[in-house]
Amino acid sequence: MIYRPLGKTGMSVSIVGLGGEYLEGQDTDAVRQVMDRAIDAGVNILDIFMSEPNVRSNIGAALKGRRDKMFLQGQICSAWVEGQYTKTRDLAVCKESLEDLFVRLGTDYIDIGMIHYCDTEEDMKLLEDNGIIDYCLEMKKSGRFRSLGIGCHNSTIAKKLVETDLFDVLMFSINPAMDMIYNHYSIDGFMEKVDGLKDGGEAPAQLDVDQERAELYTLCEKKGVGITVMKVYGGGRLLSADTSPFRQAMTTSQCIQYALSRPGVASALVGVKSVTELEEALKYLKANDEEKDYSWIFNHIESYSGNACVYCSHCQPCPVEINIAAVTRLLDQARISGITPEIRQAYDALAVKASACISCGACNTRCPFGIDAMENMRQTGVLLG
Ligand code: SF4
Ligand code: SF4
Repeated sequence: MIYRPLGKTGMSVSIVGLGGEYLEGQDTDAVRQVMDRAIDAGVNILDIFMSEPNVRSNIGAALKGRRDKMFLQGQICSAWVEGQYTKTRDLAVCKESLEDLFVRLGTDYIDIGMIHYCDTEEDMKLLEDNGIIDYCLEMKKSGRFRSLGIGCHNSTIAKKLVETDLFDVLMFSINPAMDMIYNHYSIDGFMEKVDGLKDGGEAPAQLDVDQERAELYTLCEKKGVGITVMKVYGGGRLLSADTSPFRQAMTTSQCIQYALSRPGVASALVGVKSVTELEEALKYLKANDEEKDYSWIFNHIESYSGNACVYCSHCQPCPVEINIAAVTRLLDQARISGITPEIRQAYDALAVKASACISCGACNTRCPFGIDAMENMRQTGVLLG
């Protein structure tokens, strides 16, 4: 394993880290097996944004007796309310959910107290007004948080957050599609640059990254704010030619290499649900330069077909309890391959179907990526029921 300093926190974290989201729904043994292999491979950082009680307890059980082997990035403001994940700025609910996290993890400290993502100025104000920032600073002063971080998907807001000097760590979504395409809803400017490149033009140093995002990474590096990366594979979308905007599958090593090549980045947190998926990510450590090279993506953007869901669940909760990310993932698969028996079976197993959607629009207002989740529910209802 290779380790990098996590900004100025004093922690040295593995360049391949774990995002915990796909451990939700796995049983105790499966979580333990992933943790065993991760620790064996030298992985020492794990993000836990999940509020679902079982996954928290399973991670706690898997870490029993070896808590010191893993830096825990535990999120505050993610809560389990009426059987669903909820993002909240209600201080009392945040405190209760955080105490639950401490208990279920069996620990009295969290290495990186991570404020669940903030993507707007209004939300920044809420964090102040509702006392969440003050509470987090108290937690840091008392040592229950060893450092303080915040998650974000928006480079404009992320820069403002970093400029406050309140945070030691930034959790940010980084992959080539987001850096080059998804940060803008128009790709015209980017296409012009790439056309110029194809015509023999020389690539400017930052051709591959939106300027503001590039500035953010440099700012973090300058200020000693360590970046932990989410959405390394773009929700798995970049790993398939059918779903990647580059119309060619990237490998896990290429995605990880891309994230680790940005200034300020300490660790690429990959979401895995099994040892097999973890092994796939760990291949990066043995990959040669050719295997890590992602530069070919410049040649494959002609057929970019629009913004797409990354299955992050930030649009929850849904008043009728639709699992929007799970439904959308099946919809996307069905769009590509038709309704296979596997898709039918997986959809039938969902407790609440897309057709239960009451078109309240709440999911659309919460999606950080501008996805029309409500329309996706409508289309799924037509397609799958
Ligand atoms: S619709 Fe948006 S918030 Fe919901 S899962 Fe997809 S990308 Fe995430
Ligand atoms: S629009 Fe439909 S899917 Fe979205 S939150 Fe409302 S009921 Fe749920």
